[in-house]
Amino acid sequence: MGAGGISGPRISVPRTPGPGLRTWAHATFGYRSSLGSPWQAGRSYGVVALRKGMTIAVASGKGGTGKTTVATNLALAIAAQHPVQFLDCDVEEPNAHLFLKPRIERTLAVEIPVPSVDRERCTYCGTCADVCAQHAVGVFPGQVLIFAELCHGCGACALFCPEGAITEVGRPVGVVEAGRADQLAFAHGRLNVGEAFAPPVVRAVKKEARDHGIVIIDVAPGTSCPVVEALKGVDFCLLVTEPTPFGLHDLKLMVGVVEKLGIPAALVINRADMGDAGVWTFCRQKRIPVLMEIPQNRRIAESYARGIPLVRTDGEWAGRFAVLFRRIRALVEGPGSRNGLRGSGCERSSGDQR
Ligand code: SF4
Ligand code: SF4
Repeated sequence: MGAGGISGPRISVPRTPGPGLRTWAHATFGYRSSLGSPWQAGRSYGVVALRKGMTIAVASGKGGTGKTTVATNLALAIAAQHPVQFLDCDVEEPNAHLFLKPRIERTLAVEIPVPSVDRERCTYCGTCADVCAQHAVGVFPGQVLIFAELCHGCGACALFCPEGAITEVGRPVGVVEAGRADQLAFAHGRLNVGEAFAPPVVRAVKKEARDHGIVIIDVAPGTSCPVVEALKGVDFCLLVTEPTPFGLHDLKLMVGVVEKLGIPAALVINRADMGDAGVWTFCRQKRIPVLMEIPQNRRIAESYARGIPLVRTDGEWAGRFAVLFRRIRALVEGPGSRNGLRGSGCERSSGDQR
């Protein structure tokens, strides 16, 4: 059953048991198994294929740092010079559309496969419950209970069922909406209310990515699974933080994530004229370039509150965001840029006085 009101296509779920489910789960979820073929026979899954263009993720360790403000303004500032696609992967609370005001042209339901047990074939042996790492299956005398909300759709229960009694059915977890916002191609995901399993929706949004031009991904705040999913395969991560102890704490966590993933990264410091110097000290120690500082400013706050991108109300900021993009491109295209965090040290925007 699809999400209500969805008239467009869906991510289809094959209903064949065994290898069909495994192949689908593998291609869709990126799970690997130590069982060998066919799980290991395919290409490397779980990472949306890199494009010939450039993919820039905008992320923050904590919410409320101005991440979406930076992502949307960056996209708009370069849209006249480059083909730009904006993907809002903050699927639990997408809000880039409030600033970009896209025209939605397509809606795609996102489903994950959950097991369905054929009671005629089931012998209640308990194997499916034993192999389920999510504790989504309970086997009792004469009964198999499936807790669909806990199921990650990995396919292990169907793979190991000795009777071939398990098939899969699609369970809707969210939607992807795609369209245009003036010069920008746009897509965002929405996780269904009450759902806790965001990565499939993030992957579905990333499947909308074009293979050319600039793709800007608005990543969810934090460092949890949907964030890692959104960051996989990107060329660069722009971290947005604020210079407070909380901002620094969560920045450190986020830097740990991008280091682990081997993604080159740099920083934008929002509300840069408040707080303390801890973020700058950390950046110097880690050699993370600071590419832009945004002051605490009433005009900026008003623009945000009205849902009007800063670059549309202030030509100076349009220029600053264009410079920010040039700095990012220099880091991405510079020598050895895929080796993780690197740069020429803690750079400062012109006129920054901290
Ligand atoms: S593994 Fe198969 S046969 Fe055994 S309890 Fe589960 S569904 Fe039934
Ligand atoms: S019930 Fe468990 S083993 Fe089966 S697909 Fe879901 S998470 Fe995987």
